[in-house]
Amino acid sequence: MASTILVNANIIDCTGAEPRPNGWVVLEADRIKEVGHGSPGALPGKAEIINCRGQTLLPGLIDGHVHMAAVEGDLAEQQRRNPASLLVIKSLKILKETLDQGFTTVRDCGGVDAGFRQAVAEGLVPGPRLFVSGAYITQTGGHGDKRYPAEMQQPALDAAGVVSDACDGISGVRRATREQLRRGVDFIKIMAGGGAASPATALDASQYSVEEMKAIVFEAESAGKYAAAHVYSDRGIKLCCEAGVRTIEHGNLLTESSARAIQAAQAYLVPTIATFQVTVEQGPGLGLPEFFIRKMRQALDAAEHSLALAWAMGLKIGSGSDLLGPMQVHKGLELALQAKVMGPMAALIATTRTNAEIIRQEKNLGTIEAGKLADLILVKGDPLKDMSLFQNYQENLTLIIQDGRVHKGVITQGI
Ligand SMILES: [Zn+2]
Repeated sequence: MASTILVNANIIDCTGAEPRPNGWVVLEADRIKEVGHGSPGALPGKAEIINCRGQTLLPGLIDGHVHMAAVEGDLAEQQRRNPASLLVIKSLKILKETLDQGFTTVRDCGGVDAGFRQAVAEGLVPGPRLFVSGAYITQTGGHGDKRYPAEMQQPALDAAGVVSDACDGISGVRRATREQLRRGVDFIKIMAGGGAASPATALDASQYSVEEMKAIVFEAESAGKYAAAHVYSDRGIKLCCEAGVRTIEHGNLLTESSARAIQAAQAYLVPTIATFQVTVEQGPGLGLPEFFIRKMRQALDAAEHSLALAWAMGLKIGSGSDLLGPMQVHKGLELALQAKVMGPMAALIATTRTNAEIIRQEKNLGTIEAGKLADLILVKGDPLKDMSLFQNYQENLTLIIQDGRVHKGVITQGI
């Protein structure tokens, strides 16, 4: 079987081990066969050799919270303006740009469906391996209900882009959850509180009753899946934990008592600081509404404090960028923002090993270890000294390998 050997790499394997200079990795087909350091010994004749020239080799990054179909900064308006075909084609561009940024896997928390996942898996389009939630589940007037007060009709659920299923009551949420499961999603996304992008909700509002969310979680778990919830407030986080939600998205307004609830539920927190920072900076120039920017600033002001609290309490912390539209090229910023609070190694681990656990792919993804899928990136410089290098990805990412195939980079013969 043809193999590839990467040599002379500074390996950060993201298991938690210290970096190892002069490391090597043998790939066979789509898997990592062996990892070591020093001399790799006798090389099999047919092997292709990649000389990493002392650069840093990392597992492919995983973004734990994205919207590949958020092609504009304003989700409500993009659904009004763009035909479904255009939304799909623009999403394909975002898929490729995301892989170019070193994210070989993403968890899409509302938008793309199982068809996109299959298209990437079949190699029809370049993009990160997808784990999708399809349309998100929202209560009437909830964060996913993007209608203005005078609008009476919900947008079509079948349209491309980012859409929601507005439903209420136990039987309503059961039907909506089962509908998404029928369409082949990997998990269910619940809007469990107010958010910045919706005109009518306050950030600290909680949405859905525990009984409704329990019904969603029950249906998801019956199908072997889980529920993730968009939620900011203390009250909302506690209701989600009581209902059995597995991942708390954003969580910017959490306090010690809701952090304890996350801990007791063994749930994950997925902070998404990058979107708040970039939207506050660039949103006005993109014409985003005033209410949106104001609430993003409110979330940004609380983001670092809530992450520091969660980190100090030892919560399981993943990593997401949650960026929209043209701002999606800044996904690497999340690493630098989390590193400010947790330190660079912990930020790298959140974006690899912990995010792999969140998508239940810890056996296949998230670290450089024998037996795992061959998703690897090579970066110029040392991210432990400079986490901002992921932001200039075009220059600093010299090699991107996904499933053992080279997406970007040159194979150099000889050592
Ligand atoms: Zn989101």
